Amino acid sequence: MKKRYLVTAALPYANGPLHIGHLAGAYLPSDIYVRYLRLMGREVVFVCGSDEHGAAITVKARKEGTTPRAIVDKYHEMLKDTFEKIGISFDIYHRTSALIHHQTSQDFFRTLNANGEFVEETTEQYYDETVGQFLADRYIVGTCPVCANPDAYGDQCERCGSTLSPNDLIEPRSMLSGSAPVKRPTKHWFLRLDKHENWLREWINTGKVDGKTLHDPAAWKNHVLGQCNSWLDQGLQPRAMTRDLDWGVDVPPEIPGSEGKKLYVWLDAPIGYISATKQWAIDHNKNWEPYWKDEDTALIHFIGKDNIVFHCLIFPAILKAHGGFILPVNVPANQFLNLEGRKLSTSKNWAVWVHEYCAEFAGQEDVLRYNMVKKMPEQADSEFTWKGFQETNNNELVNNLANFVNRVMVLTHKYYDGLVPVVDTERAFKSGWEADKAGQYNEELALLHAKLNEMGAQVERFNFREALQLAMEISGAGNALLQFNEPWKTVKDDPETVKVVMNLAVQYVAVLSVALRPFLPFSAARLRSMLNLPALEEAGDLLDMLNELVEGNPVVQPRHTLGAPAHLFSRIPDEVIQAQIDKLKATEQAQASDEGATVNFTPVKDTIQFDDFAKIDIRTGTILSAEKVAKSKKLLKLSVDLGFETRTILSGIAEHFSPEEVVGKEVVVLANLAPRVMMGTESQGMILLAEDAEGKLGFVSPESGWQAGMSVG
Ligand SMILES: [Zn+2]
Repeated sequence: MKKRYLVTAALPYANGPLHIGHLAGAYLPSDIYVRYLRLMGREVVFVCGSDEHGAAITVKARKEGTTPRAIVDKYHEMLKDTFEKIGISFDIYHRTSALIHHQTSQDFFRTLNANGEFVEETTEQYYDETVGQFLADRYIVGTCPVCANPDAYGDQCERCGSTLSPNDLIEPRSMLSGSAPVKRPTKHWFLRLDKHENWLREWINTGKVDGKTLHDPAAWKNHVLGQCNSWLDQGLQPRAMTRDLDWGVDVPPEIPGSEGKKLYVWLDAPIGYISATKQWAIDHNKNWEPYWKDEDTALIHFIGKDNIVFHCLIFPAILKAHGGFILPVNVPANQFLNLEGRKLSTSKNWAVWVHEYCAEFAGQEDVLRYNMVKKMPEQADSEFTWKGFQETNNNELVNNLANFVNRVMVLTHKYYDGLVPVVDTERAFKSGWEADKAGQYNEELALLHAKLNEMGAQVERFNFREALQLAMEISGAGNALLQFNEPWKTVKDDPETVKVVMNLAVQYVAVLSVALRPFLPFSAARLRSMLNLPALEEAGDLLDMLNELVEGNPVVQPRHTLGAPAHLFSRIPDEVIQAQIDKLKATEQAQASDEGATVNFTPVKDTIQFDDFAKIDIRTGTILSAEKVAKSKKLLKLSVDLGFETRTILSGIAEHFSPEEVVGKEVVVLANLAPRVMMGTESQGMILLAEDAEGKLGFVSPESGWQAGMSVG
């Protein structure tokens, strides 16, 4: 076990509010983990902050007709407030526009530069002559070469999710002026990632650097290792660490050629974890350095899967290239959460916004947290639905947890005026852990101890779904304890046994008030107050409880007076859920009508007779191979299997599809078209394609699995 922990959660981008995908991806898992560590008495600092640089901020400012500063101020406050409301317990929520962050990032740049980690290179970048500036990737839009989305960005297509570079875009245009950009030379600093490839490969896969074991790769998630290795297998290339932008951290001014250059946002953002730690240390009169430089610190980055390469390869390379810094012992990235069958999307407003949830479901923050853990995309993508949200609340939080707690509170007040009964610990009763199992007081305490240990082990392995399940089993066993012993029937005839059962039930609730704290902090606090126990300090509280239980000591003493029963969870009615579903449906419809408005249909041609149609022979086929035709921009030469023979067909699709993309495609072919020679090759048929009014093409394909050569008609 390490002496101390530094836990980071991905810096959210300060250009929009937080949605449930962010919550389930990085913030809730990190919060659960950190709260657990604190409950176990470990030394931990939990840092996060707003990522306030990069072109997406300036794009947003332009869209809203305001300044980048106004955008980051607005969203920084909003994000900070939302995190507090949903109970994410950062030790500091910092921001990258802070002076200390600019200084820290510039110092990093200086050191990397002095260490010869950069290569300066002049490249051709898109430049908008109308407004007189270089265009960041986000400022260039054009047609996606993969899915033909006409509004893909220079770094990514939001429709198909492909990662792009501006050079990939077909017919690029500037978002600033709408004009076609031109290429101009510009100098940038490229980090020599290629130099770091070998040790990164060894570190990722064996945990070793220079023969020293720094982490256990078996503890890393498979999909994280897989993504890292697929990057490493492609070979790491030098990557530009500067940009031509007017918003961000300046390249240190004393470095020649730095004028007008800013640090790449992915260089400065992870350094934000360091500057946040520095600010935390200043605020608390501590030293930040052991958290980043002492090998007895466990550094853990919680992120979503879209950030894996930056946290597992690029940032570690930067830390090692700088020297003197530790590397993360784990990067437990989560996969993606989907919403009602679709990808969550900020730009399409397909989301459950956390600040809206907190306003509409005030007092029920833990219901969302519980659902997010249940649906946490730990190993694979998962899905949130409002119906599932309602069912989980009603069946698990209300019927299991709240019901158990309420019965214990009400019965203890009814039978003993709220005093925890004194018991004969040798007296037998029925255990709640399985049907027909004889219970024994000290053994029940030992079972609770074992369950808490199991839960802790799962948290330490980042299996939060499993850990919550184990905690909820305590509530289930408590319910069964009451159900099997039926104190309401036996309290008159067998009061001594009922005392044991009720005393134990109180111990169960007390154990839950600590065990649930990482997952449901608000409810755990309510439980403490119902039990009239001191509020948790998250300073070794769970460890203390484990030490009592292992000694066979109860956690609530006999004759302790309970507080008043209070509300924990209540059923969520259908109309509340329907209102949320309607809200999403309205979003969907608004979008469909937006998209519908832009569709232009080409007019239908003159009517023909059936005999005209009957002359046409259309067949199913499969493209076997494809190659570009020399000197032709438009034509691909295809070899097409028609079952009974293989044809050579020239198709005017080269500007829309690459040869690799079309091989294997099942297509529909006009088979009796007169052969035609083009560019010296005879084309023996025509591939049928759909075309929209803008000239975007798509294949017409038979249902998968149709044999080649079948007639279509
Ligand atoms: Zn696309």
